[in-house]
Amino acid sequence: MDYVGAIFRPPSEADSLLVQATVGCSHNTCAFCAMYADKTFRAKKWETIQADLDEGLAEPYYRRVFLCDGDALILSTNKLVRILRYIKEHGPQIERVGVYGDARGVLAKSVEELRELKDAGLGIVYHGLESGDDEVLRRIRKGSTAAEQAEAGRRVKQAGILYSAIVLLGAGGEELSEQHARNTAALLTAADPDYVGCLMLTLVLGTPLYEDAEAGRFVLPDKWGLLRELRTIVAESDFSRCHFTANHASNYLPIKADMPQDKPRVLALIDDVIARHDDRTLKPEWMRGL
Ligand code: SF4
Repeated sequence: MDYVGAIFRPPSEADSLLVQATVGCSHNTCAFCAMYADKTFRAKKWETIQADLDEGLAEPYYRRVFLCDGDALILSTNKLVRILRYIKEHGPQIERVGVYGDARGVLAKSVEELRELKDAGLGIVYHGLESGDDEVLRRIRKGSTAAEQAEAGRRVKQAGILYSAIVLLGAGGEELSEQHARNTAALLTAADPDYVGCLMLTLVLGTPLYEDAEAGRFVLPDKWGLLRELRTIVAESDFSRCHFTANHASNYLPIKADMPQDKPRVLALIDDVIARHDDRTLKPEWMRGL
């Protein structure tokens, strides 16, 4: 396989065939993210993608394909359709194709274009929306507003594609912690994702946010503050049907829930842990896999 640099994928795509359709991230300016800092964004040549698909699809083990890197949905509809149709034609065993996409990538496409992608085989879009608060989004340089992110989510769902939203606990720091949590819950309610994954912000050496933290301009909430954010998001969001997880390695309290029915159970669990305020009820630092 022609992999350029480190390859990232969502946890749920661990067993997928990873095909790098683009190198890097076309945005590459989020203040907390260093995943593609060493890569200059470019679309890969069709011949390279095709060779990787031929190699990977020959392996009968794969049931899913994930198109890397950071925001492969930014590719034109025509280019994506070509990749998706090729997968359909040469990998009849493939049940789902997934991709990372943000508001820029989604909103550059009409619902009709997204439907075309769905018909060609696109099954799920993972959107790192991080926050629903415009001030937080501006500070972390996400490049889109909460309204744009909500519209992106609605458009993906309207096209019949599964929509998986990723939010970042701690993204507002201590200063904006409450408004970050409340407005993220509002955004999730507006976008109504099929899946939500809550991650906890990790300060990564070399990123602007790390420098802000070193200089005292950004203070990451402690684990109890992060848990309160999670509680607010769970309490104030309304989903029609959503698989909600906060079980990534970076989370202190792993949660897996089907909303809305599991909401009372999850709130009771978080409230119990907050009320006891006992560090032993939270995953120790060495187990967080960071
Ligand atoms: S859009 Fe995603 S991959 Fe790109 S810089 Fe932001 S967080 Fe990183």
